[in-house]
Amino acid sequence: MTYKTIIEDDIDILVAGAGLGGTGAAFEARYWGKDKKIVIAEKANIDRSGAVAQGLYAINCYMGTRWGENNPEDHVRYARMDLMGMVREDLAFDMARHVDSSVHMFEDWGLPLMKNPKTGSYMREGRWQIMIHGESYKPIVAEAAKKSADKVFNRVCVTHLLMDDSKENRVAGAVGFNVRTGNYHVFKSKTVICGAGGASNIFKPRSVGEGAGRVWYAPWSSGSAYGLMIEAGAKMTQMENRIVLARFKDGYGPVGAYFLHLKTYTQNGVGEEYESKWFPALTEMVGKEYLDTEGQHLSHKPIPTCLRNHAFISEVNAGRGPIHMVTMEAFQDPHLEEIGWHNFLGMTVGQAVLWASTDVDPKYENPELTTSEPYVMGSHATGCGAWCSGPEDISPPEYYWGYNRMTTVEGLFGAGDAVGGTPHAFSSGSFTEGRLAAKAACKYIDDGKGEGIVVSDKQIADLKEKIYKPLETYRVYSNEVVGGSVNPNFINPKQGLDRLQKLMDEYCGGFGVNYMTNEKLLQIGLKKLKTLEEDMEKIAASDIHELLRAWELNHRVRTSESVFQHTLFRKETRWPGYYYRGDAMKLDDKNWHVLTVSHRDRKTGEYTMEKAPLYHLEDENKG
Ligand code: AMP
Repeated sequence: MTYKTIIEDDIDILVAGAGLGGTGAAFEARYWGKDKKIVIAEKANIDRSGAVAQGLYAINCYMGTRWGENNPEDHVRYARMDLMGMVREDLAFDMARHVDSSVHMFEDWGLPLMKNPKTGSYMREGRWQIMIHGESYKPIVAEAAKKSADKVFNRVCVTHLLMDDSKENRVAGAVGFNVRTGNYHVFKSKTVICGAGGASNIFKPRSVGEGAGRVWYAPWSSGSAYGLMIEAGAKMTQMENRIVLARFKDGYGPVGAYFLHLKTYTQNGVGEEYESKWFPALTEMVGKEYLDTEGQHLSHKPIPTCLRNHAFISEVNAGRGPIHMVTMEAFQDPHLEEIGWHNFLGMTVGQAVLWASTDVDPKYENPELTTSEPYVMGSHATGCGAWCSGPEDISPPEYYWGYNRMTTVEGLFGAGDAVGGTPHAFSSGSFTEGRLAAKAACKYIDDGKGEGIVVSDKQIADLKEKIYKPLETYRVYSNEVVGGSVNPNFINPKQGLDRLQKLMDEYCGGFGVNYMTNEKLLQIGLKKLKTLEEDMEKIAASDIHELLRAWELNHRVRTSESVFQHTLFRKETRWPGYYYRGDAMKLDDKNWHVLTVSHRDRKTGEYTMEKAPLYHLEDENKG
């Protein structure tokens, strides 16, 4: 069967992936580019896509400068501390100084934010977090983006970026296919803002069988932001910095509202406080700057997220699990009990359903917590993503090449999980990053930087052949099945995903090995990944839905390769609790107080790794 080719030409700004980052980009692009052609391509439906699709109960990044609560510098210091020093502080500051205005717009657009009846200020869950009734957060924000764009293509999975045939290293748009009709979509564009999201389901998840779709981060987040940008030759940073979350067991319900607002706390299996006993040894591993064992006041001086995980993991390994969240005290207060349930009904309904269906009432039983499988992303307490230019007014020369949030590929910008070194952006910060990227993209176009782009018919035809090849492989070989789904001529996307998850888990530090890896394991893992990649030439898709799975797997594999390369490069354990390099168990500030930057050659697939200097805001502002 042949599928129609639909070409959308003369686009100024293509938003590839419209979660919070992409919606922010489309919205702001219209402000700075009144007459520009703005097009959105979204794999799902913009009303319910991305990590915020099922709602949120808090906005985790709000300064409250208007209320005299915090200023952006405070937030940069907080993110720096939480990430054991590793933050692109120019980008983090830039996001923080603009984020409040995004939140105020969300309120204008109808998002119900909880307010302190006395002061009128937003109700705080923690120092940075405000509380919302956010089940419909995404549809509300999506409406603004839909009104801003000339066209929204829902159900179009972007598989590749187009490159300019007339100028090296310049983006020229993107291609993909409609996951319902199968049509081939070509978007020729002067700029692309990539907001295609981070990655779940790269590491083997704890959930198995029919529960496999239940993970913490969006299960459909297939690392496409990374897969697309790496394939286009964009440099990446901090890809080793995967994140592990402490979560309510099996439902993956978040803990922030419980810890910060309900003031619940954790205990080991025999009802003891356990965190503090791991701190002396941990201080030995990471040094005093990163773990002040005196200052444990959670909302003002939080222990870095990874270090809290470390205590959790160590206590369970010592045989004193499971770790419980002590809810039985807080839930005696009917108001807090209501908030506890609302929290999950608003953002993780699966957790509430799981408790109800397994007879767990947090008022009478302290629920179990667990540590999740690792995720590769850049907007929660982790900073994976592309190496992007910072803003002109504060970035040091090494961090600045003309256009805010532009990757090292000309005309290719990032937002949300796509931008590296910018943790603790969360939903509001991702939207804000999209806005900043779009403003810069408009300037790039106005400066004439997107002129004269050529996309050859050959490039378009070659990509079409490549994209649909799994369907062809299936057509040719499907009747050679030898049993069940076993076929000597191909693998299906699920078989490929199982292989990827197993090798990431065992060799790259998943939950199955207590997040432990070392150089030898990483080398073996990379070898196995290479074989998987060879076999992916023979991936088969029985229908358009499997074709989607095949391309998602492709992006996940490319992301995983980058994670391997980065983890191999950083010879230290910078984030105990996220992962451990067994052959370099200490944090090594002397050699590794740097950001890691990788480049994959588009033609040869070879990686080169470098260390980039880590500048702290105060250093820059000294003069
Ligand atoms: P979560 O609900 O776990 O995704 O976290 C929501 C927010 O609360 C994020 O800003 C986290 O960094 C923060 N957070 C979660 N747990 C804690 C804690 N125990 N101490 C301080 N901050 C926390």
